Amino acid sequence: MNATRATKDEEGATSNAPQFLPWQEETARNWLGNRDRFAHAWLIHGLAGIGKLDFAVAAAASLLCESPVNGLACGHCAACAWFASGNHPDLRRIRPEAVAVEEGADAAEPSEDAEPATGAAKRAPSKEIRIDQIRSLESWFNTATHRGGWRVALLYPAHALNVVSSNALLKVLEEPPPHTVFLLVADAPDRLLPTLVSRCRRLPLPAPDPDTALQWLREQNVEPAREWLAAAGGAPLAALRLAQSGEAACPPWLTQLVGPLSKGQSPDVGTLAEALEKVAASEWIDALQRLYTDLMLASAGAPARYFPALASGVAQVAARMNTAKVAEAARWLTRQRALATHPLNAKLFAHSTLQRVVLSCLA
Ligand SMILES: [Zn+2]
Repeated sequence: MNATRATKDEEGATSNAPQFLPWQEETARNWLGNRDRFAHAWLIHGLAGIGKLDFAVAAAASLLCESPVNGLACGHCAACAWFASGNHPDLRRIRPEAVAVEEGADAAEPSEDAEPATGAAKRAPSKEIRIDQIRSLESWFNTATHRGGWRVALLYPAHALNVVSSNALLKVLEEPPPHTVFLLVADAPDRLLPTLVSRCRRLPLPAPDPDTALQWLREQNVEPAREWLAAAGGAPLAALRLAQSGEAACPPWLTQLVGPLSKGQSPDVGTLAEALEKVAASEWIDALQRLYTDLMLASAGAPARYFPALASGVAQVAARMNTAKVAEAARWLTRQRALATHPLNAKLFAHSTLQRVVLSCLA
């Protein structure tokens, strides 16, 4: 997420500042435009996949900019140039190693974050934010900031803080270092330590309306945008990731499941189970849960939410199905979701789950 999208401003000069997404601009201007009593810790939260990290990165650039325009980064000053090169000394990213690796941790990463090369056997990168990552901030706080400006600690995802590191951070926030702003990014604040949440000002980020999201997706060359957005439950950045994953917005196995069901016939569960064996169980159960949502919507005469491509088949299944039976199977599937991370036998698990789904749809 270090990459900044270079844009041309009104004078035609190239700006290096990371941009706010179109549906974030108003929130950003209102929030960053008034810094008189700016809180020292913010919890930026909202639905997964709506661009919270993009927002936090653009906010960090704006806070560090030396000549912000209406509160937002100018893209031309020395601080903006440093930010763009990933070397701003007054910015720290606090994230799990696994996330840093995914982001291709580069020069943006101050050395404190890196593991010392001990020559020991390589272990899997941590998925948690460790206490030493919080402790290592101490020396940074004790260093004067560049030209007396802000210092920004960008911490994401906040739920990666374990109990120990949460408490260490809590201590820091109880006696906040001067000129320092913490930006914590989280999908769901209720998954965080309540005492930590209470030390932060909340900044809820809105999800975009469908038209704005679709327009943005089309600008990213995602087609058919409507199907991808639906498959991602309306979250545009999640839709972009899905589209880039090379999978189909509507998985082929789901089409093969709904096709026969729409004619009142039983699909070939054995073949479908073989296809699902290669897919993460959580992923295909999610898809089945979404199918159930679309079925219930169709039975109420509402349009499909997740799989518009299957709408006519789903409507035919819905016209025939016993709604109470399907609702019960949907609840059962939610319980199966808890087992999905550790199925003893992936194919058998897929087979028995599919069988139950098929039975529920054939009244
Ligand atoms: Zn600037």
